[in-house]
This record gives sequence, structure tokens and C-alpha cells, in this order.
Amino acid sequence: MIVIKTSNELLKMRKAGLITGGALMAAKQAIRPGMSTLELDKIIKNYIVSHGAKPSFLGYNGFPASACISVNDTVIHGIPSASEKLKEGDIVSVDVGAYIDGYHGDSAKTFAVGEISDEAKRLMASTEESLMLAIEIAKPGVRIGDISAAIQKYNEDRGFSVVREFVGHGVGAKLHEDPEVPNFGRAGHGPRLMPGMVIAIEPMINAGGRGVKILNDGWTVKTTDKSLSAHFEHTIAITSGGAVILTQPE
Ligand code: MG
Ligand code: MG
Repeated sequence: MIVIKTSNELLKMRKAGLITGGALMAAKQAIRPGMSTLELDKIIKNYIVSHGAKPSFLGYNGFPASACISVNDTVIHGIPSASEKLKEGDIVSVDVGAYIDGYHGDSAKTFAVGEISDEAKRLMASTEESLMLAIEIAKPGVRIGDISAAIQKYNEDRGFSVVREFVGHGVGAKLHEDPEVPNFGRAGHGPRLMPGMVIAIEPMINAGGRGVKILNDGWTVKTTDKSLSAHFEHTIAITSGGAVILTQPE
């Protein structure tokens, strides 16, 4: 069931989204070679808690940290660790959620650690540009499949591949609500967007093949061919005037 939010609920969701986006900005400013992914997680947690919110991911289905931190060939759901240190040339995907006043925000970005390869830059640009294109398309009457197909085409046209096993989703009082928002699919299919819908669009794009595997920890998702992967996500609200990005920092 797709939950339609009132304008008052959307204001609360903007508050959650603002803290979510701010936590990602704090992460961006802190990232440097030599830092452990656990140190980065602590910075994100401190930001969220000091703004009066709770980290949405901490304890979610038993997840042990506040952020998912996924380096290089890790696609999503990387578990922050004291032993995993960021190195010059890495790319690191940081996925954050903040919960306040009964609502969640959900957003992710992939960051460069120092100077990175041209391939990594192209992958990150394609992934982020496809997210922004999808947000531009999203308005009342447009179907989920229109968004899915646009993201798929944009990335595949650039020689990259789309992860199929994980998808975007509705967001609200629950972190994951209906509808599913795949990053691949057919235009003209799926539910139509309506004012008051809130969805997270989150392309996960691989430089190599689209295959992924889950490690024995039950969380970490890696590319099977060890190629780089990027992940960008925003939570957006559909209004009569188009999409509003709830997780855009000020
Ligand atoms: Mg997320
Ligand atoms: Mg999400």
C-alpha cells in the first residue's frame, strides 16, 4: 500500500531529510586517507544524534552501525569497521538515514578519497546524473517504470551496469515502504506518481558486470567481478509542481 503524506507530514519529512543530508555533508568534510570506516560512522552518528534525531539504520534488522559504508567493489550495506582504513584513490559510498518526529530520511552519496581514477570519476558522475535526471522526470502522472527505464538507459549508454537485486522504495513512518523503485525496467509500466507520495530513488551502478554477491556477514554486498560500484540516493516528495528533494542539505 502506498501511503500518501499530508503537507504537515511532508514538513516533518523535510526535517528528517535535512538532518540526513547534513550528516552526509559532515561525512564528506571528514573523509581523508587513513581514516577508518568506523571513525566515519561515529562522525555521522554524532551529527544525527546532536540534531535530535536517531540513526535509522542502527539496529534495523540487526544492522550494527549508524551508516552503511561501502568501499570500492562494495555496492551497499558495508559494515563500518576499525580495521578498514580509507586509502588515497578509493571511492566510498555512504548511506545514511535519520529518524525524527516519526519520519525517516534516506540518502546516499559516493565520495572520492583523494585523487581517483578517470573510470571512477565517470562511474560516479553517471550514477549521480542518472539520479538527478530521474528526479527531474518525477511528477504526478509519471509511472515508476518511466523513472526505472531512464536510470537504466542513462547508465547503460555509458557502458555501466545496473544492480537488479536492490531497489529504491517509498519512505515515511517506515524506512522502507511501497512502492519499489527499481533502477531498471520498462517505461509506461508500474504505479503512477501522485502528490503526497515520498520515494527514495537510489541507483546502484557497477563499472563492470551487474552481478553481486552477499558476504557471509549477511550484509555486505559486493560486485562479483570486483569492479567498482557507486550509489547515489535522495528521498523526494511528489507535489503538484514536481519533485522536491527532502534530503538536499541547505
Ligand atoms: Mg539509503
Ligand atoms: Mg534507501
